[in-house]
Amino acid sequence: MGFAAEFFDFASSRFGAYPWPTYTIVQGGDGGMEYGTATLITGNRNLKSLVNVIFHEAAHSWYQHLFGINETVDEWFDEGFTSYVEELAMHHIFERKGAIPTNPIMEPYRGYYRLALSGKEEPMSLLADYYNTNYAYSNAAYNKGAVMAEQLGYIIGKENLEKTFLKFYELWKFKHPTPNDFKRVAEDVSGINLKWYFNLFINTTRKIDYAIDTIAGKEIIIRNKSDFAMPLDILVEYKDGSKELFYIPLREMRGEKPAENYDIYAGVKRTVLEDWFWTKPTYSFTASKEVAKVWIDPTLRLADIESSDNHKIVK
Ligand SMILES: [Zn+2]
Repeated sequence: MGFAAEFFDFASSRFGAYPWPTYTIVQGGDGGMEYGTATLITGNRNLKSLVNVIFHEAAHSWYQHLFGINETVDEWFDEGFTSYVEELAMHHIFERKGAIPTNPIMEPYRGYYRLALSGKEEPMSLLADYYNTNYAYSNAAYNKGAVMAEQLGYIIGKENLEKTFLKFYELWKFKHPTPNDFKRVAEDVSGINLKWYFNLFINTTRKIDYAIDTIAGKEIIIRNKSDFAMPLDILVEYKDGSKELFYIPLREMRGEKPAENYDIYAGVKRTVLEDWFWTKPTYSFTASKEVAKVWIDPTLRLADIESSDNHKIVK
């Protein structure tokens, strides 16, 4: 099957059925640029790059055309969610033979981290034409917007994220939903309050930064070095080689995500801890046995801008 046909099969299965009878890819010397049921692309690029731009423009069939998203108002919802569809499709089609990674969109995460540390970041709730630099616009809209989606899966759970995209399609196709409508669907599907996440990640440039503070025997202290609170998955390896996954929900979620079926968690006992009250800078808990290693979010979906202090080995 050709790449384009495969893209539409994949995107339809994950984001809702492509509803029009045709899609036309025109090598027309401009772009890539998205139009309803068509794209204009340029030539003279390698196969993967050509496929990538086609996937991106075709993904706008969902995150622009089906939902009538205004890219000058909600640029992250338009370009970011489109980039998310594109990245998942690229991954699905080009790397399906390898092991399924826990985070298939590391490239947008890296782009977002560079932006977050550049000093040039502006809130992605800005109207698209009002950023001070194109650098800040493009990294917010394309990269941070894609991170917004994948990280939502970290908060509500991978399966709930997939359900959210399909339910959003059922409820809102051919209408003009806002980002708040997407949030409500995610809340309905997961039973988790998401007001804080959408507010902080979209309307502010606050950054997430957790660290493992102290490990002493069975005691573990985690520190929030930032002003952005998140729920935490913490994988602990014991001195006897066994593992345990601890989950700390954020109190403001008013709920918990269910267990997720990543390979790295296979056969690992999951323990849900008490909620972290988001204003507290530290959180301590007692593990079951002598601790050898601690790792905050081994799936790498938490957009923590300083990850070097997210894992620690007891010497
Ligand atoms: Zn685009």
